Amino acid sequence: MKQVKLTIKLKFVNLNKVKAEMFAQMEKENTRLANELLSIPYMERRKLTTAKVNSILASALSNQTIRHTISASGRHSKHYTKLPIEINRQNWNLHKVGDTYSLSFPTIQGVKRVPVEIASQHWQSVLEKVLSNQCIKGSIKILCKRKVWYANMNVTLEVPEVQSQNKIGVDRGQNNLAVAASSKGFAIFFSGLCVKHRRKYYQKRRKSLLQAKKFRALKKQTKKEHRWLEAVTHTISRRIVRFVQFLDADVVLEDLEGCFKTTKLSPKTKTDVDETWNRNSFYSLEQKLIYKIEMVGRKVIKVPAAYTSKTCSTCGMLGERKKHDFHCTNGHYHNADHNAAVNLARWIGFTCDLNLKETLSAMESVDSGYAVLGTPQSKCTVSGTPTLRESEMSSGDLVNTYPARDVG
Ligand SMILES: [Zn+2]
Repeated sequence: MKQVKLTIKLKFVNLNKVKAEMFAQMEKENTRLANELLSIPYMERRKLTTAKVNSILASALSNQTIRHTISASGRHSKHYTKLPIEINRQNWNLHKVGDTYSLSFPTIQGVKRVPVEIASQHWQSVLEKVLSNQCIKGSIKILCKRKVWYANMNVTLEVPEVQSQNKIGVDRGQNNLAVAASSKGFAIFFSGLCVKHRRKYYQKRRKSLLQAKKFRALKKQTKKEHRWLEAVTHTISRRIVRFVQFLDADVVLEDLEGCFKTTKLSPKTKTDVDETWNRNSFYSLEQKLIYKIEMVGRKVIKVPAAYTSKTCSTCGMLGERKKHDFHCTNGHYHNADHNAAVNLARWIGFTCDLNLKETLSAMESVDSGYAVLGTPQSKCTVSGTPTLRESEMSSGDLVNTYPARDVG
């Protein structure tokens, strides 16, 4: 069994003014109490109990506040501007009457039961598991965001681990937002055209709103765009998960972290719509994909990004990529993104340790056709550039740090 941690955002529905004011009062009192506790030296704070603390909060809540101020994260804080109420797992309960879910927890006016709703139907199954005690409950935080009150519920799900037979590679890019392909080449494409088109429209509109100094409308517009992009990334990741389950596979992703740190954008590309599907969206797609994949009990493998889009998936030679097209020196043609995704699906490791930066710069100075298979256990030279073909692969050491950029 594998444990997957989740945070589910529940919105309090039809919250009346009295309750909203009570929540605000509780948060204020909680912040005051936490700041009072911070003025006490750490060693004394550790011995405190709720009986010695002067507060109108229920002892279950003030106890949680004490625990927060002596925790690893709270220990070093100097002052809280706002500390949301946290309720530990013994003190809250989820109920269901008809189709309505409700949460009960201690407040300053005794235990109250407040109806909640889920943001998306996808979480309903998790709530059902909480009701039937099929998952491990965590704490709840009561938060206010833009005058709306939410409860952030932490739960730990136990997911049976699935041993996958295959691997699929997911390549992310601009032309195709994502391409998921199996090692045999079977693939699904998520085209970036409509996203590009709509982003262009939004950008134009934002510009005109800015010129007209309609700032409120601009803010509304930006939020709308953000919501739409979130929906797109959710849809793509969900469809990839379905594809993964259909093929009984694990997912192989490029590790783009190093790329983003090492590359700097020019001012032009920063504002360019071509950069639309920007790094934030890459990251958000990755995050959504990872948690969705974990929830179905499969693995996400991250591999260094270098070479995946430069190697031919048919013969393993290095080739040239021009926008959508990939040509290798042996005359094979591939769609560039599809080629990269297939390479990822076949990735099993490099043949030897190597310093990628050196090798990459050496590679660029040499004709790409000279790339020969790596010799295992030997020191890598220019001829030792790794190829990604599974068949020619021998077991070798895995290298983890690759600050090279290879995304287009
Ligand atoms: Zn080839």
